[in-house]
This record gives sequence, structure tokens and C-alpha cells, in this order.
Amino acid sequence: DAAIRFEDVHFSYNPDRNILKGVSFEVPAGKTVAVVGPSGAGKSTLTRLMFRFYDVSGGRITIDGQDIRDVTQNSLRQEIGIVPQDTVLFNDTIAYNISYGRPGAEHDEIEKAAKLASIDGFVRALPDGFKTMVGERGLKLSGGEKQRVSIARMLLKRPKIMIFDEATSALDTRTEKDIQQALRDVSRGHTTLVIAHRLSTVIDADEIIVLRDGQVAERGRHQELLAQE
Ligand code: ADP
Repeated sequence: DAAIRFEDVHFSYNPDRNILKGVSFEVPAGKTVAVVGPSGAGKSTLTRLMFRFYDVSGGRITIDGQDIRDVTQNSLRQEIGIVPQDTVLFNDTIAYNISYGRPGAEHDEIEKAAKLASIDGFVRALPDGFKTMVGERGLKLSGGEKQRVSIARMLLKRPKIMIFDEATSALDTRTEKDIQQALRDVSRGHTTLVIAHRLSTVIDADEIIVLRDGQVAERGRHQELLAQE
């Protein structure tokens, strides 16, 4: 069975407006599927539904064949890891940020996750704005580096399903390319859902779902979809 399956999913925040209008797609175990679409298409809503911040109004979402309405939010949080659009760091070391929520994490594991995310150079560093009694200042991390902290955090967690929400990340082109490479490296062999704005950023997805106005407008591989543009 598919690792993630959306079956004719309908959703509305308010009764007067449908946001998702019968969305169906699936992510086979170990594959990467990207949901691409313009702002307002309903991409973030999809991820919120996966965590059961809201329940679907129609249809269903299954994970490994199980309807998520039968799964608690807590277990969904354990099974799904997300690298959000914007990473907000805690006022503590990068190592602390990577291991937050996993108090038992060994230093070796943290280093390994940091290395995979290419931030092993500064796991002991403190984020910008960090203040101590002696007025010491932290290291200024770029948007891309912060995103790497989230990636490392997810790697340490090793969830069954990974979500990369890169839809509105304010990264410059070079950093974006860099992060995409990091995502490619860490997502290999994992069930991965990538949320993105532009087709150009998801060349490596096994399938791309184009979401427009709450519906699947197109689906296919990168080259096929580019040819149709
Ligand atoms: P995307 O992530 O593709 O930009 P969203 O899922 O954020 O799209 O939003 C889809 C639509 O749902 C938008 O029209 C947005 O205004 C609306 N929307 C998002 N969140 C809420 C909410 N909490 N309450 C009401 N409407 C919302």
C-alpha cells in the first residue's frame, strides 16, 4: 500500500468556501512526490491535514493504509517530520536546536545528523542575538543555514515520512540550489513529500502533482510537465 494516500480529499476552513476540492494522490514508500502550485492553491492546508490540525471534510488520508482519523496527533508527529518554510531557532547552541525534543540524543548522533546536513562546522555555535552575562554574541546564520538546522533535526528524529515545505522560503538562488542538494541527499530512500512553488525546484521528484485552486490540475514527471508549459 502507499505510504501516504489522499483519497478525494475535501476541506474547507469556512462553510462558504471550499479550499480542497477532491484531491487524490499517493506517495509510494521510499519515493519522493512534490506538490507544486501557486500561492493560495492549498499546499499548506495539505500538510496541516496530515498532522490533523484539522480533519478532512470529505474523503480520507491514509498512512500505510490506516485512516489518520484513527491515529492520534502525537503519533502523527512522531511518524512525520517536517522542515518548515522558516526555521525559528531557540536561544541556545545549534546542537541543542538539533536535538530539541530528543533529550536522549547522543552527541555522536547529533554530529552525524549535522554532518549530513552540512552544518557540522558549527554545532557548538550559538545563534545570532544570543546574549550571555558577559555580552557575548552569537553567530549569524543565513536562511539556508537555519534550514539546514531543521534538516539535521529531522535527520536525528528519523521519521517514517519527511515533509519539506520549501514553498515560500526566502532563500537566494544559490542557497536554494544548495538546500535542494541537501534535500536530495537526505530524502533518498525515504518517503518524502516536497511542497514547492515552482516546477524548476523539484527536478528529482518521482512524481509532481500540480495543485491549482484546490484541485490536482496536472501530474507527471518534471520533463513531461515542463514540455506542457
Ligand atoms: P498555499 O500553501 O498553496 O499557498 P494555503 O493552503 O495556505 O495555500 O491556502 C489555501 C487557501 O486557504 C487560501 O485561499 C487561504 O487564504 C485559505 N486559508 C489558509 N488558511 C486559512 C485559515 N486558517 N482560515 C481560513 N482560510 C485559510
